[in-house]
Amino acid sequence: MIEEKMILNGVKIGLETHISLPTKSKLFCSCSNIAKENEGANTRICPVCLGHPGTKPSLNQKAIELGIKLAIVFNCELSKKSFFSRKTYFYPDLSKNFQITQYEIPICQNGNATIKIDDKEKKIRIRRIHLEEDPAKIIYQKESTFLDYNRSGSPLMEIVTEPDFSTSKEARIYLQNIMSLLEYLDLSNGEETNIMKSDANISLKNGTRVEVKNIGGVREVEKALKYEFLRQKNLIEKDVKIERETRGWVDKLGISKSLRSKEFEEDYGYIFEPDLPYICIDEKQINAQKDKIPELLEQKAKRIKKIYGLNEKTIERIVRYKDLADLFEYLCEKKIDAKLASSWVVGPILKTLNWNNTRFFLLKIDKEDIFMCLEDYTNKKHSDFVCEKIIQKMVEEAKNKRNFSYKHIIKKFGFSSSKIDVDEIIKKILNENKAVYEEYLTGKQKALDFLVGQVMRETKGAAKPQEVKDKISNYNK
Ligand SMILES: [Zn+2]
Repeated sequence: MIEEKMILNGVKIGLETHISLPTKSKLFCSCSNIAKENEGANTRICPVCLGHPGTKPSLNQKAIELGIKLAIVFNCELSKKSFFSRKTYFYPDLSKNFQITQYEIPICQNGNATIKIDDKEKKIRIRRIHLEEDPAKIIYQKESTFLDYNRSGSPLMEIVTEPDFSTSKEARIYLQNIMSLLEYLDLSNGEETNIMKSDANISLKNGTRVEVKNIGGVREVEKALKYEFLRQKNLIEKDVKIERETRGWVDKLGISKSLRSKEFEEDYGYIFEPDLPYICIDEKQINAQKDKIPELLEQKAKRIKKIYGLNEKTIERIVRYKDLADLFEYLCEKKIDAKLASSWVVGPILKTLNWNNTRFFLLKIDKEDIFMCLEDYTNKKHSDFVCEKIIQKMVEEAKNKRNFSYKHIIKKFGFSSSKIDVDEIIKKILNENKAVYEEYLTGKQKALDFLVGQVMRETKGAAKPQEVKDKISNYNK
């Protein structure tokens, strides 16, 4: 296992994760921060987010509120007084040649996050969380380079950990937890790779630290770390010195490649941003945000355990996605057995969503439709096979923006929701295929397969193949 090798090689990983905050307007101007479908490039811009000389930023208070919320959730110490600085760099994605960020004093520091690895808890120290603006997007096309400033000035929250991860798996679990948390706080639109980008630094046995920049989503971070570990390990085995450098992650190729030798923070020449006031946070503001924090994963898990029992592994899987946890509770309130509801929610429903690369809340499927389907299953109107097929169709139709209601799906795809009488159907099929049945009686296995197939077709897949097989074998005995 690669994780064990990482531990043996004294791997240390630290993460800097940028989260896009879904505020209505941008961080320092009133331009919309909400991307529209098929919007044109440079359609949500103004002199401030274009960085014209002489323009002055004004701070979006909502971003500060979200910062306070995250600080509380990550058990950080909030700075009573923090400020913004200009991080100087020359690159086309920031035409004013500096990024407004927090450097000397961030909005909060010294927090922690708990991850669970193989039933053991591990604390990851959070060094700091700070606010900054997103630069513009650079689009390379053949020989041209385009700039889209729609993203410029969007608020980002950067969460910096200490190098406390020993394996890529730990890093993945930590990031998964953050994604879940964002969902619980209603700060996620489900598009993981757009919301979350990480820079990972990794070293082996206290060796040189290498930074891999700009990795989208959760899974890619795990992949990038595994790749970078093996690359460095190979170099060490060949006695090649590892350079302190910044590498980029090329997700299409699954490799990291050298971008530049690592610059040190001092190289950016931070200076105080004189156009923005200090950020002052008092107890009143903190308490106001505390009151707005809803029930989070751990509390939900505890409550579900108390009400419905269920084993811890199942509960962990249920609460990981807030939308599915809500679905589970809805089903239970409608008197679907908790064990049955959980097995469907984290079983076929989650599997189908993953397969279609989507999320339940994005599809806007009515929980009542799922309830009706499972109720018919409980009343033995559907086999588990048919029930799963109906859910698959609901997800597919919802994804393709077609009518996906339970009743419509049943009608459109001809699923029967009336009780089927398998014995009656077997009798009918055997009567219609007497010759084949006799062949089967002389020991031909293929004949049995044919008969089972006919019964399955007649029941539109609602019967269980093994049950049909057994019934035919024992027919007339
Ligand atoms: Zn603007």
